[in-house]
Amino acid sequence: MSVVVVESRASRPRFTALPPLALYVHLPWCLSKCPYCDFNSHARKAGEAGALPEREYVDALVADLESTLPSVWGRKVSTVFLGGGTPSLFSPEAIDRLLAAVRARLPLSADAEITMEANPGTFERERFAAFRAAGVNRISIGVQSFDPRFLSALGRVHDGDEAAAAATAAVQLFDEVNLDLMFGLPGQTIEQALADVERALSFRTTHLSCYQLTIEPNTLFHRNPPALPDEDTLADMSAAIERRLAEAGYEHYEVSAYARPGHRCRHNVNYWSFGDYLGIGAGAHAKVSLPDRIVREVRFRQPAQYIERARSGEFAVERREVRPDDLGFEFMLNALRLAGGVPSSLYAERTGLPIVSIAREIERATAQGLLDADPARLRATALGYRFLNQTVALFLRTESGSGLGSELGSELGSDSNFGHSPEIRV
Ligand code: SF4
Repeated sequence: MSVVVVESRASRPRFTALPPLALYVHLPWCLSKCPYCDFNSHARKAGEAGALPEREYVDALVADLESTLPSVWGRKVSTVFLGGGTPSLFSPEAIDRLLAAVRARLPLSADAEITMEANPGTFERERFAAFRAAGVNRISIGVQSFDPRFLSALGRVHDGDEAAAAATAAVQLFDEVNLDLMFGLPGQTIEQALADVERALSFRTTHLSCYQLTIEPNTLFHRNPPALPDEDTLADMSAAIERRLAEAGYEHYEVSAYARPGHRCRHNVNYWSFGDYLGIGAGAHAKVSLPDRIVREVRFRQPAQYIERARSGEFAVERREVRPDDLGFEFMLNALRLAGGVPSSLYAERTGLPIVSIAREIERATAQGLLDADPARLRATALGYRFLNQTVALFLRTESGSGLGSELGSELGSDSNFGHSPEIRV
């Protein structure tokens, strides 16, 4: 493992109270690998059906969690996110064992939000009722589209009817349901994108995530790019979706996230508010604040290697103290994704540095019309929100940023530990 400690011009953080804490668990297997996916997901091998190394992997997760406890001793956890991959490939028994182990080791708040990502191709009613009984109380379904033409273009293993059946069962079983939709698909028109939104609205879920398809490096689509709608069509499509969801009573509270009032994803809001999170499982990221520093960690990425290393108590492939100089960028990278921004006082609370440490950058962004002039809030203007990358880049002090911060930048954009299922994964 490499351990990086870097000198910095800015003074060290000092926390009077530590940020809220969440737990992300990465379950990395999928039925197959989608051509647009750059997450740490691994196709289940042929002949491996029903034979994921569940027991070994859950053992490794529990040992991983135990190894992190000394850094967060006594801190309450208010959200848990089971992301992937396709966590719903795991058996309800394995999820039950995992959540029981989490409860036995971490003080979960009584109203903890416990989300699981699921794919319609793995949705069976009894199975999901069992996930519910194990303690999952929020489900996030990777529908992407209801139109068979686009599902096939995206290499998805489910069809529109399976997606609709999964959404119907999900709202019967769970109070909190998110559907992930993608738009800007190969050959898609605005009418076709709106037809998907309309179908999604018919299930009256509490949350919708609408992501624009982007072509990421190291994907099949990057090697063989499909023809996507042009920039003007994409802008009109995005605006039309936003209007329709607003009419239907959904608040557009983050770049890709829409919620009925009172139903925002608390786990993701914690990321965007620069809260802390433990990350266990192959390739998971963690951010933990200590009284005088913030530490980021990354786990071994390959599932087999992760399980193997866990046997000797080794989990992190990298541990890095965030440079104080990079905290302004890392904070803004997250906070400005929230449409309403955050109170300015949150900067000192979550970075341990006074807001005056980024006064120059704030002044520059405000002068360019990208940041709201209200001193009580840190919030992008309509222009700054439209050109969010440029707005956030004004807070970057080094060419590479902190490394992990830059990496997170490319990962933000889905609901889980910064993955694609438009809910986020880190
Ligand atoms: S897009 Fe989702 S379902 Fe497809 S390979 Fe990636 S993690 Fe798995």
